[in-house]
Amino acid sequence: MQFDIAIIGAGVVGTAIARDLSRFDLRVILLEARADFGDESSKGNSALMTAGFDTPRGTLERQLVTRGFIRYQTEAPAMGLPIRRVGALTLAWSDEQRAIVEHEVAGARADGFSSVTLLDGADVLRRWPHFSPGIQCAMWAPEECIADPFSTPYAYVLDAVANGVVYRPSFAVKRADRLTNGWRLEEAKGQAVTSRLVVNSGGLRADKVEGLAGYSDFVVRPRRGQYLVLDKAARSLHDVIALPTPTPTTRGILIAPTIFGNVIVGPTAEEVSDPDDRRTTPEGLAKLREAMHRMAPALEQFPVNTVFSGMRPATDRSEYQIIPRLSERWVTVAGIRSTGFSGALGIAEHVASLLVPLFVDARRKTTTNAIVVPDLAETSQRPWQDNARIEADPRYGEIICHCERVTRGEIENAMASRIPPRTLKALKRRTRAMFGRCQGFYCGARIDAIFNSGRNSEHT
Ligand SMILES: Cc1cc2nc3c(=O)[nH]c(=O)nc-3n(C[C@H](O)[C@H](O)[C@H](O)COP(=O)(O)OP(=O)(O)OC[C@H]3O[C@@H](n4cnc5c(N)ncnc54)[C@H](O)[C@@H]3O)c2cc1C
Repeated sequence: MQFDIAIIGAGVVGTAIARDLSRFDLRVILLEARADFGDESSKGNSALMTAGFDTPRGTLERQLVTRGFIRYQTEAPAMGLPIRRVGALTLAWSDEQRAIVEHEVAGARADGFSSVTLLDGADVLRRWPHFSPGIQCAMWAPEECIADPFSTPYAYVLDAVANGVVYRPSFAVKRADRLTNGWRLEEAKGQAVTSRLVVNSGGLRADKVEGLAGYSDFVVRPRRGQYLVLDKAARSLHDVIALPTPTPTTRGILIAPTIFGNVIVGPTAEEVSDPDDRRTTPEGLAKLREAMHRMAPALEQFPVNTVFSGMRPATDRSEYQIIPRLSERWVTVAGIRSTGFSGALGIAEHVASLLVPLFVDARRKTTTNAIVVPDLAETSQRPWQDNARIEADPRYGEIICHCERVTRGEIENAMASRIPPRTLKALKRRTRAMFGRCQGFYCGARIDAIFNSGRNSEHT
């Protein structure tokens, strides 16, 4: 089949682009190298849905993040995606930091973020007494949200497929040949697709994908971010996004609640040469503990359930690398370093606005098929709490993962999904199973058994 548009890379950005393009009469294919979507940069982040006030002023990034944030508020709930407005504080303890924070507040307000205000230190400590004493002031951004980083690309790809996009996991593009009317993309075993236009949203490997087509405008410089995940008990003390005063080079290590009920401390910012080097290191973890000690020492009493690291798809350029080579039918959407979770729907809309006019027959569809993903937020009602649901189907009363209270019904539903998880880690991201204190020590074998029986029935 000849496609109109082939998207390389099913991270949060590629899946959002696929979803937006699915609204038009276009033949679209989404190609993903890994067994599951969202399995690279998009799986390890802070999951802050930001309004964009702290993105560089006057940039395309600011414009797209702001737009993505607005779209997410209106479109995510209909897809079942939870979003919680917890607000963000940027804290200042010294005179020097006070001057920076005051400047940031003035800048944000001048840029139209009118809800951003300056709080007095005493007010901050009255409301959040667990922070280190001596706070002089803080920037308060009440609209900042937390959301679900794993279900978001799931919802986007499910929606795209429900509306006609072809999704091909385990298709790592290794070769791109220019044709008179588009491109031929080939994977390692020789399978190929042809398409009139290509979108490269290859994240950490976007420069390699560019190289296949003969382009070399930027180089990816992976930047690792390590995190501590504090036990849920920490949430009784900390339910706000807390950031240190930014410096000219970094916005620093934050302490934030997660949608799943934990508190995270991170990320570090380390340039690494290997995009797969997702190690956590003694030095990195020590930095995180030091930051927690400095900002909120009361949190040190809570156990660390786990540690992880994510990898930002940064490049040797400071800006997003959105390069529309429309006459060559190759559009690059790369270098979406630190704000892609928030910006994805803004980026998708921007890319669709560039591409759709090239296809004269691509009318907007009059109807779309809606999808809903399970709401995994700690504050939402979960199936184990829903008596009517358990009565109708006792599988929702059988808890398999006791730390996160994930039921057999939820795990089996994930396995039966239109896009089932193809790895145990993907199943974990779809359900929260094994995310808790025991990290799968007690439930791992049972979950593995359900996963394998689900995989077998998929193949029979
Ligand atoms: C530590 C950290 C903290 C962050 N915090 C936030 C935050 O709080 N808020 C926020 O908005 N953003 C945050 N981000 C940024 C956000 O996570 C990224 O901007 C976003 O995930 C980038 O998505 P992507 O789709 O561009 O890349 P990816 O998720 O990496 O997707 C690219 C995909 O392309 C595939 N691919 C690569 N090469 C090929 C090929 N040859 N053939 C087929 N497929 C290919 C890959 O397998 C991958 O699935 C953070 C990032 C990190 C790392």
